[in-house]
Amino acid sequence: MYYQKEYECMPREELVKLQSERLVAQVKRMYENVECFRNRMDEKGLKPSDIHGVEDLSKLPFSYKTDLRDYYPYGLFASPLSDIVRVHASSGTTGKRIVVGYTRNDLEIWEDMMARQLVALGVTKDDIVQVAFGYGLFTGGFGAHAGAEKIGCLVVPISSGNTARQIETMIDFGVTVLYCTPSYAMYLAETAEKMGVVDQLKLRIGIFGAEPWTEEMRQKIEQTFKIKAYDVYGLTEILGPGVSRECEYQAGMHINEDHFIPEIIDPETLEPLPYGSIGELVFTTITKEGAPIIRYRTRDLCQLTVEPCKCGRTHVRMKKPQGRSDDMLIIRGVNVFPSQIEEILLKAGNEITPNYQIIVGRENNTDTFDVLVEMAENLFADDIKSIEAIQKKIENNIRSILGIGAKVKLVSPNSIARSEGKAKRVIDNRKLV
Ligand code: ADP
Ligand code: ZN
Repeated sequence: MYYQKEYECMPREELVKLQSERLVAQVKRMYENVECFRNRMDEKGLKPSDIHGVEDLSKLPFSYKTDLRDYYPYGLFASPLSDIVRVHASSGTTGKRIVVGYTRNDLEIWEDMMARQLVALGVTKDDIVQVAFGYGLFTGGFGAHAGAEKIGCLVVPISSGNTARQIETMIDFGVTVLYCTPSYAMYLAETAEKMGVVDQLKLRIGIFGAEPWTEEMRQKIEQTFKIKAYDVYGLTEILGPGVSRECEYQAGMHINEDHFIPEIIDPETLEPLPYGSIGELVFTTITKEGAPIIRYRTRDLCQLTVEPCKCGRTHVRMKKPQGRSDDMLIIRGVNVFPSQIEEILLKAGNEITPNYQIIVGRENNTDTFDVLVEMAENLFADDIKSIEAIQKKIENNIRSILGIGAKVKLVSPNSIARSEGKAKRVIDNRKLV
């Protein structure tokens, strides 16, 4: 069994001591190797020798998603490129992906954390694990795969897509554990139900994450598949999957605190808040070599608790993120900022205005993504041919820049409701928080 009890159940004082040692070493290493970090330290008049432990964390400068864009692709790496053995990437703020690099050692630690996750959820070497997260630059597939292999499971690396084949594979291969996004799990559950094959499944555990989901979705998936469904959280900038996950008690997600120091800050004042407060989640990585990051502002609004958990682990638990402190949407797994749509519309010609509204919904367990755009006064509402051509052009631009399809509809001038003189840009009907 792969259970790192000595780390996961460490008394808090010892844990803080370990974190402090690791933090001091990390700050020194980053100051020497990462220009962006060194400049920010210099601006604050800080030297690595001013940081003695976790108690000095709040002196350190923050990092942002835009840093990964500004230093794209390798500028934030703290190891020479020859020591980086893998990169992963996810969508970023301007359509440029954010890129993270892993050294050999980083990959081993990641595997450990993923193995911990599986063990905490009751997975053993006798399980057959279907990884229906995408393999590729997305961190999900390779991350889940490595952990399951580490504890000796039989891994089915099917990747995402082809729903009927996924279900056939689950039945034929006797799959007992399913890894994927919660929306895809819902879709698989409903499809299996429609096909009348739920009874042929041997599934017992589902591990779902990478996007927000509700307790109702959890219940629906658990009831349909007759399994336990667990929530796991991660983000590319910090690691990928495996940053935190529930234990068997499903009472918040334990953060791997021997590798990451979490903080909750007030997104307005930027002051750290005590345990129990709702605020923005900030992470500092203390063992990563390739792409370490200090005080990364995740923009996820969240709550931490240090109350002891029934499972005996001492690592803090985070509640399900309750929204974001910025306006980022996750649509079909892709990060979308309304400003990206605005930029596309500004370049789309003078027959349209940049007055728009994004409407996100969910149908058949897939996100719907509609963009309403007000046409300019000079475009005649009955010129159907032109309207269709413009809609198509904007749809193509959205697809090529964001990597996902949207349905664009031109509407008449001044038809999008304005509240307090300002249009409400996003209507999210998914009710995920
Ligand atoms: P990835 O490409 O690994 O999915 P991204 O960096 O694109 O990572 O997205 C990470 C974001 O996804 C997080 O900041 C958070 O907003 C969201 N997220 C990930 N896991 C969960 C989860 N279990 N519940 C809610 N939101 C989640
Ligand atoms: Zn626990």
